[in-house]
Amino acid sequence: MFASGKKQSLRKEYDVVVAGGGASGLIAAKAAARNGAKTLLVERQGCLGGVGTTCYVAQYIGFFNGELQAVWGTPNEFLKEIVKAGGSDGFTYYTMAEASASPINIYNFPFNPEVVKYVADDFIQEENIHVLFHAQVADALVQDGTISGVALQCVGGRIEVAAKAIVDATGDATVAHSAGVRFLSDSSEIDQKQPTSLVFRLSNVNVKRFRSIPRERKRELALAGIKKGEIFWESLSFMSTPGGHDAICLMSRIRGLDMLDAVDLSEAEYVGRRQVQSIVKFLQENVDGFEKAVLANIAARVGVRETRRIHGRHVLTLEDILEDRQFPDSVALGCGPVDVHDPNGSGITLMMPERPWQIPMRSLLPDGIEGLIVTGRAISATHEANAGSRHMATAMALGEAAGTMAAIAAEGGASTAGLDPKVVRGRLRAQSAATSVEDCHRPDG
Ligand SMILES: Cc1cc2nc3c(=O)[nH]c(=O)nc-3n(C[C@H](O)[C@H](O)[C@H](O)COP(=O)(O)OP(=O)(O)OC[C@H]3O[C@@H](n4cnc5c(N)ncnc54)[C@H](O)[C@@H]3O)c2cc1C
Repeated sequence: MFASGKKQSLRKEYDVVVAGGGASGLIAAKAAARNGAKTLLVERQGCLGGVGTTCYVAQYIGFFNGELQAVWGTPNEFLKEIVKAGGSDGFTYYTMAEASASPINIYNFPFNPEVVKYVADDFIQEENIHVLFHAQVADALVQDGTISGVALQCVGGRIEVAAKAIVDATGDATVAHSAGVRFLSDSSEIDQKQPTSLVFRLSNVNVKRFRSIPRERKRELALAGIKKGEIFWESLSFMSTPGGHDAICLMSRIRGLDMLDAVDLSEAEYVGRRQVQSIVKFLQENVDGFEKAVLANIAARVGVRETRRIHGRHVLTLEDILEDRQFPDSVALGCGPVDVHDPNGSGITLMMPERPWQIPMRSLLPDGIEGLIVTGRAISATHEANAGSRHMATAMALGEAAGTMAAIAAEGGASTAGLDPKVVRGRLRAQSAATSVEDCHRPDG
């Protein structure tokens, strides 16, 4: 726990507790604190950033839909800090899944995950935020249908903390699960869930040489590798850290395991590392630019694309996204692509909606429980809609909404059920966040 580098004591009660310090939780905590809430951010790892840092997924997607930037506010401020610290050169236009059957051109924001770790530490320094690392939210404390706090499993034992509002930003909706919330998906549909991947980084890569290989040749190589069982999906895409001669590779695919089952999750780490070994050998032996590549890192844990999705007061659907449905309680905008990694095969389906889409506040509010807001990849959305709303930029935009909602709910004991969308949207706009396409056109870039 820290605040301006000074050691502080943990309170028994906070206005807002944010569970999980990934893309969504980091921004949620900042937004809650800026709205005056005494906030505790609880993270089970030793750093913030979630999948972007711990799992080494080193590019933010979802800030732009086509040419239009649709995520602004606090997430945009965070990006500026990363650039200022030398952790990124900013947005680039790149071809996603280049060796797949249907690649797509999008803006991404590649970054150095190690720099993002300390930028996040500084970004979260606010008078009224406490951060607790190496603490796992184990249970929701629920009384008469209202969540009144959380129990944390820490190195020294179990600690209970009371809060007026809780933001569940764990990705797995762990707090919601413990609170008895209904889900749209759980362990029963493993074969319909997006696969898991273990990311790794190679150093000493001749990036320029690789980039000059024609797309058709890359596809040929990928398909040949899959046929021989040496690589696992139709993409040879990778990111490089700014100025680096390295390749951060999202090339593994772990299927048919339940990421909510402790034994399967352990197996996934094992399978992932076996896949990494095989992919590295394949790249070194077959792909231009990788001849002298050296395995530099394997991410600390597998990256899980999909587990639980709550049953909220609105279920976001693919039709909502593709038909550009307007919601009076829109609190965040999502951007393409909608990318569905084949749960059982080696392909990917990519769709680019015409416009950024609205995400209603109701998709963050679970049915039947008071005081709980769910953000990030576990919001109430169908499998297909989740494929569009799970990107880290969208997770951040949702985090800004969730933190703001939690702070408003905590003010004067107002309830999450009674949140007024006009008030929430007004606050978000005042924070420079976009809740409709009309909010997106900015002179400040
Ligand atoms: C392999 C892979 C590739 C991807 N590629 C991209 C990409 O290129 N670009 C992109 O934008 N998105 C990508 N995504 C999607 C994106 O990374 C996630 O959907 C996004 O990170 C979701 O953000 P989040 O904040 O909801 O969850 P997370 O980033 O998962 O953050 C959740 C945080 O909560 C913490 N936590 C979990 N449980 C607890 C608990 N009980 N107590 C305390 N802390 C807890 C975790 O440690 C973590 O820090 C990818 C995802 C995967 C897995």
